[in-house]
Amino acid sequence: MTITQYRSQWQGPELRAAARHLGRRRFLTLTAAAAALAFAVDLPAAGAAAAATLDAARIDVFPFTLGVASGDPLPDSVVLWTRLAPAPYQPDGGLPAQPVDVDWEMAQDESFAVPVAQGTATAHPEFHHTVHVEVQGLDAGRVYYYRFRAGAWLSPTGRTRTAPAAGAAAPALTFAAVSCQAYTDGYFTAHRHLSEDDVDLVFHLGDYIYEYAVDAAGGARKYTDRALPALFDHETGTLEDYRLRYALYRTDADLQAAHAMHPFVVTWDDHETENNYAGSIPENAVPPDQFLIRRAAAYRAYWENQPLRMPQLPVGPDAQLYRRLFWGRLAQFDVLDTRQYRSDQAYGDGKHIPGPESEDPARTMTGAAQEAWLLDGWKASTARWNVVPQQVCFSQRKMDLNTVAEVSMDAWDGYPASRRRVLDGAKAAGVENLMVLSGDVHVAYAFDIKDDFDDPASRTLGTEIVATSIASGQNGTERPSNWATYTTANPHLKFYDGRRGYVTVSLTDARARADFKTVPYVTTPGAPLSTAASFVTEAGAPGLRRV
Ligand code: FE
Ligand code: CA
Repeated sequence: MTITQYRSQWQGPELRAAARHLGRRRFLTLTAAAAALAFAVDLPAAGAAAAATLDAARIDVFPFTLGVASGDPLPDSVVLWTRLAPAPYQPDGGLPAQPVDVDWEMAQDESFAVPVAQGTATAHPEFHHTVHVEVQGLDAGRVYYYRFRAGAWLSPTGRTRTAPAAGAAAPALTFAAVSCQAYTDGYFTAHRHLSEDDVDLVFHLGDYIYEYAVDAAGGARKYTDRALPALFDHETGTLEDYRLRYALYRTDADLQAAHAMHPFVVTWDDHETENNYAGSIPENAVPPDQFLIRRAAAYRAYWENQPLRMPQLPVGPDAQLYRRLFWGRLAQFDVLDTRQYRSDQAYGDGKHIPGPESEDPARTMTGAAQEAWLLDGWKASTARWNVVPQQVCFSQRKMDLNTVAEVSMDAWDGYPASRRRVLDGAKAAGVENLMVLSGDVHVAYAFDIKDDFDDPASRTLGTEIVATSIASGQNGTERPSNWATYTTANPHLKFYDGRRGYVTVSLTDARARADFKTVPYVTTPGAPLSTAASFVTEAGAPGLRRV
């Protein structure tokens, strides 16, 4: 879709989407909401489309301050990303509201001696001078290097790779899973280590940014050599706020290093918009129509600042983020969005014992369309491993030893009928080697996914690997104070570590191996990386075994 096509469909689908969310009885509020929405997302009223192109030679300050990124590898294509921002902490990024032409090139080697593709993309002011290039015609299963040029300025070089050919046997794949990078909770040391780790692909499972205020010292980072501007020191609400927040995060050198070295496949959780929102229901007492304006701003800034393709471009408050990727016939990845379509949390959210409200079969974590898409995808799957990168804990986590124990209403435990439908769908599809990836909880977990979590003797249907946070929760501790209770209440819980880090998973036809990697501290820079534990699950015989 071209920008012009996107613009021309702006008004109609906008109102329809809003109406779908709000229901007919609230339609009368929509005129105001839609007007505010058009304003919030800066389209196309700014009129910048008509502005003359800015000659990149006139950019006199280094504009690639946010680094480069790549993502969503296909066998013949990958998305390249950058943004022009000579002054990243200014709302306008230091550029006038004019389009800028940016050259890009891709090569087989780091010195660009063997070029394979090149072109020119436009950094539109409507997209905050972000650049998304969907390079086509690449060879399957290869490493490539890429860079951008604007006027006299050359970007850092990025490394990426394409997926193996569709249906091809792939000998091995190692990917990482990361989540939850609250800038104000510490340094992104784990991203620095990830940049040096030998992985093919990184899944980001959400909480890429946090909406809360960032003070001049960067919170727990306690900067003494710089002061962040006051415009970060309030909760994000507008498009400008969200855009600036991505600019803050992406100036982090460790995060830039991870993006430059590996392609990312990203999905969001709540904090990219607002803590624990559910569909069109915000955390606090704000009317849904007002919240959808905020959600539209948040979703748009997310797309602008991630290596995502055009089908993921939001239309107002809606975006199709769930999508499917393949790694030959070794793995199928069903990337979920468990925020946009979910029912409101039962019992007012938080921890609660299950009951009629949470167990209502009409409640959904995925929405009906995404659920059907997932189950149909499994029916059609020929992959050895069926991996589900998503946000919140899938397995049951009882918080106490009572027969009916408290569980988290925000996780799948608060949507048990939805989880049952997914597991029944996996069984009916005869899906091979199910592995769920999760984030959100700021601790590392490894679970056996049981057919009946209350019966340890029931069938193990797959495994769940939960990535701890990059920074959220500050330094953390290895074990919680309720360790004995927690492990007794949840016999399918095979591992817990409450420190910061990430997890890598290596897949072969025969087995999957998970390595939980941690750093001992994040409130000061430079922590070393160590592997806290490793687990293996054999193909055809699900169940985690510590190695
Ligand atoms: Fe988080
Ligand atoms: Ca979260």
